[in-house]
Amino acid sequence: MDIKVSVSEKIYDVIVAGGGPSGCAAAVAAARNGASVLLIEASYCLGGMGTIGMVPSFAPFTDKEKVISKSIAEEIVVKYKKLMGRADEDWDWLPISFELLKSVYDEIVTESGVKVLFGSTVCAVNTENKKIKSVIASAKGGLTEYRAKMFVDCTGDADIAALCGVPFECGDNNGNIQASSLCFIISGVDMSECDWWDVHSGPKSIWEKMGDNPKYPLIDKNHFVIAKIDENTLGVNAGHLLVENATDKEEISEKMILGRKVAAQYLEAAKEYLPDVFKNAFIVSTAPNLGIRESRRIIGKYVLSIDDYIARRNFDDEIARNCYWIDCHRSKDDSVNSAQSKTVPQLHYDAGESHGIPWRCLISEKMENLVVAGRTISADRAVMAAIRVMPVCMTTGEAAGIGAAIAAMEDISIHSLKASKIRKILKLNGAYIKDCGEL
Ligand SMILES: Cc1cc2nc3c(=O)[nH]c(=O)nc-3n(C[C@H](O)[C@H](O)[C@H](O)COP(=O)(O)OP(=O)(O)OC[C@H]3O[C@@H](n4cnc5c(N)ncnc54)[C@H](O)[C@@H]3O)c2cc1C
Repeated sequence: MDIKVSVSEKIYDVIVAGGGPSGCAAAVAAARNGASVLLIEASYCLGGMGTIGMVPSFAPFTDKEKVISKSIAEEIVVKYKKLMGRADEDWDWLPISFELLKSVYDEIVTESGVKVLFGSTVCAVNTENKKIKSVIASAKGGLTEYRAKMFVDCTGDADIAALCGVPFECGDNNGNIQASSLCFIISGVDMSECDWWDVHSGPKSIWEKMGDNPKYPLIDKNHFVIAKIDENTLGVNAGHLLVENATDKEEISEKMILGRKVAAQYLEAAKEYLPDVFKNAFIVSTAPNLGIRESRRIIGKYVLSIDDYIARRNFDDEIARNCYWIDCHRSKDDSVNSAQSKTVPQLHYDAGESHGIPWRCLISEKMENLVVAGRTISADRAVMAAIRVMPVCMTTGEAAGIGAAIAAMEDISIHSLKASKIRKILKLNGAYIKDCGEL
């Protein structure tokens, strides 16, 4: 077979693949630290699951006492809150208005000087002696090779890492991975007269009652989360779609079609159970992408474990902190009557508590010029179920971008880079990380 690959002329300092929360933060951080940056994104907008997955709200930016997802994460959310007209003190569970969020990412990424390439999926790598020489992206125009000194994998599936042969895990040993959801938006809702708690999730809500009605077999009463985008519009994250392999396009295609049926059934039932609220309601859109909660996790130089979570461990090389709870949704072996995994404990922190995330979780022995950020960093399954939320992905993304930029500018292997250099810049940027020695 004669496959044509055109070569892009420019050699970048840093290429970031994936423009979700981690990729945007990584690209901005790398550019602000002097690197020329190409951001390659498969879809046609930035934001990842927060836009193309229509995840309806941001997990908390605070540990209930103070903001802990700071620096670029804080900058993104502050810009977003201004556009939404939200109060300065609102930090937790902010509903997402997807078009506003897209515009925030567009602005912050382009203003930092990053070159953005949409509609391009990294599908192959060219490696030599533990180094990535180039990545190949497929797009409408065909295959194009892009070269850089350093690469940051923010694909949410660790695509580049997997293509390079970096070892990874996915789910547990029995093939359990957290269920996905196809999120959607309902508008034309009239909440002027209703009790919010009838519409919201929880024991008093209509969704539980609907789930018990055999007329609506696709409704999952155990998983229903909504956010009020405005007085007439709800962002909905509901129903569990079991997926065995988040990178199998045939399976994902089937689940997308099923997900749209699920969404339609939720609306039909809502019209029956709360006619005053939903009689004129309609689905504005289901998400263009399936909401994948769990995919590959690289095995890096350090694997963050549930013991670290329980110990609220600090690390000499920590580059971010997390306080989110271990929120592992049900998988194939779990009861349909539960929203959560029975094998992974649901652990929560008290106000003010958090744990560190080491730099070593972002790099692998296998490659000299690859950094990974976002939900696919090196962590066990339980911890991944906590650090996967967007504010935390932004903070690991920022550290990845800084590290990649320094390594590119100094022309060194990522393994020769001292975490203290990244930490110094993070601290100057106001990031929340603990001081406990230096690596
Ligand atoms: C249903 C659901 C509900 C959730 N609820 C919440 C919530 O309430 N609050 C919260 O904060 N978090 C929530 N999360 C978690 C959170 O949204 C994700 O874990 C987070 O967005 C991951 O960020 P990321 O940057 O690692 O990857 P993603 O957000 O997945 O972004 C990856 C990006 O890379 C692109 N991409 C993928 N492969 C390639 C490739 N090969 N080449 C180029 N581009 C590529 C994708 O198009 C995408 O834009 C939820 C997730 C799901 C699925």
